[in-house]
Amino acid sequence: MELIQSIFWILALWWLLSNVVTAIKVIQIQKAIEKNNELNRNQPKNIELDTKADDPAEVEMVEDKVCGKVIEKSRAYQLFHEGKLFYFCSWDCRQTYIQEYIKQS
Ligand SMILES: [Zn+2]
Repeated sequence: MELIQSIFWILALWWLLSNVVTAIKVIQIQKAIEKNNELNRNQPKNIELDTKADDPAEVEMVEDKVCGKVIEKSRAYQLFHEGKLFYFCSWDCRQTYIQEYIKQS
């Protein structure tokens, strides 16, 4: 009889433990789902901000004084000269400007 009782207790404990493990797994999955939902809720806002930045109407364009190219201000090479900022499409154009317009004067 004692052997059967101890087997019963082992089975009962095993059942209890597996239930606890399942409960922990369910909580972890729920937390993961909540996190995903939060990310999904935040994502559309970020995408909206990104598309606004890429809107051509909002991008400021500047002219390269050397080669005449029109370029995005944020991507242009800059040079501060005689109280003004000049923009160039490339480092070469910037160097050309320095050599031709600044060193001569
Ligand atoms: Zn240029």
